[in-house]
Amino acid sequence: GFLTGKGSMKITIFGTGYVGLVTGACLAEVGNHVVCVDVDVAKIEGLRNGVIPIYEPGLDEVVKRNAAAGNLEFTTDVAEGVAHGLFQFIAVGTPPDEDGSADLQHVKAVARSIGEHMSEFRVIVNKSTVPVGTADVVRDTVASVLSARGAGVEFDVVSNPEFLKEGAAVDDFMRPDRIVIGTDNPRTTELLRILYAPFNRSHSRLVEMDVRSAELTKYAANAMLATKISFMNEIANLAERLGADIEHVRLGIGADPRIGYHFIYPGCGYGGSCFPKDVKALEHTARDIGYRAELLSAVENVNNRQKEVLFAKISAHFGGDLAGKTFALWGLSFKPKTDDMRDAPSRVLMEALWAAGAKVQAYDPEAMKECRRIYGERAGLKLCDRAEAALEGADALVVVTEWNAFRSPDLSLIKSHLKYPVVFDGRNVYEPEQLRSAGLMHYGIGRGGAH
Ligand code: NAD
Repeated sequence: GFLTGKGSMKITIFGTGYVGLVTGACLAEVGNHVVCVDVDVAKIEGLRNGVIPIYEPGLDEVVKRNAAAGNLEFTTDVAEGVAHGLFQFIAVGTPPDEDGSADLQHVKAVARSIGEHMSEFRVIVNKSTVPVGTADVVRDTVASVLSARGAGVEFDVVSNPEFLKEGAAVDDFMRPDRIVIGTDNPRTTELLRILYAPFNRSHSRLVEMDVRSAELTKYAANAMLATKISFMNEIANLAERLGADIEHVRLGIGADPRIGYHFIYPGCGYGGSCFPKDVKALEHTARDIGYRAELLSAVENVNNRQKEVLFAKISAHFGGDLAGKTFALWGLSFKPKTDDMRDAPSRVLMEALWAAGAKVQAYDPEAMKECRRIYGERAGLKLCDRAEAALEGADALVVVTEWNAFRSPDLSLIKSHLKYPVVFDGRNVYEPEQLRSAGLMHYGIGRGGAH
């Protein structure tokens, strides 16, 4: 019964952020009928008028095409959402609570809504990143609302964590490395196999497991990636002090296939909405069960320290006297190809510069609007509409995000604009020799041997 009709499945997505909107748009793109629900009235109003609230390559077209075709709809009406989809996706935020644990209030709110309005079988698919045991919380929440209503409706809760990367989200969703399905119910597994079949055509990417393993898999993946970054930053800091160049070391270790070249770039710290919060949440989960997760604490501590490295280099270069100085900042987003500035290293740097009495002139290809939303009109912050404009009248240049647009700048232009010919390269975008030959002084990350 559920799978007949026009060959499409009915899907409801709660949350139209990075994960929810991409999931909804991509599931619509392969022919399903998707309804996206959000509590943010302005966001839904905008989406109905073709305003995409985030920058994500390719998302605009997929959303507009499917909205125009009528298979991607947006509503704030929860009852309508619950009535629509056999699949009820939860893709709401799970931000860190004050103590570092994942705040489940939005997830629980959706579970209550589903319980209140559900009148026939539903598969509740949890895509938000949530601590082990949350599927049970969702199940209990829905069941208790149902029983308060005196309604006996069947449902199942599945863990289906999302692994998309901001900046490549549509592509990642359409061509996933793997699709993790956590459920003990074979009937539900079968439904999800059908749902994901269009993303699975050359070979199966489904990794099927129990619910708790699926929940832990997401945290393990992000903790591993964060560990790789903190590890490289630790070695970079050593290299710098030992007169070695981390870029040589990176190539030297990456050649070992057990290590590999992927994701071993040193820099000025990881940010974004996921690594920092997920490492903290997993640490918290460990603490709750009486286990001290030493490695996770170290990964977090190393990262917090790394976010201060650029400021320390700048401050040291200018002998601690930054009052009245102006810094050109290239890059605000936490990584290229996104407008996301959550936990971005740029924020730590800007705030430290302001605290020291310095000013910032910043340019980012996508995150300017987000920066304005966060900091507003603020003395000490000037947002420039071109990379070159940020250099004008600045004392020095700091590269915080490795956008492609910053990779081969006109070095003579940099030199002519800056008061002091010095570049602080937080992502090792430039070769020290290249800058030196253009008359620019270079500070990188971990490049002790390269000075
Ligand atoms: P987001 O903050 O961009 O979006 C969350 C959306 O949920 C917001 O639009 C918010 O208004 C909405 N919302 C909150 N409560 C709601 C409710 N009761 N009903 C309907 N909508 C509601 O978050 P995101 O980045 O998309 O992340 C969502 C989840 O996915 C998080 O758990 C995150 O950890 C996880 N995740 C994120 C990424 C990523 O790269 N951003 C990747 C994988 C997993």
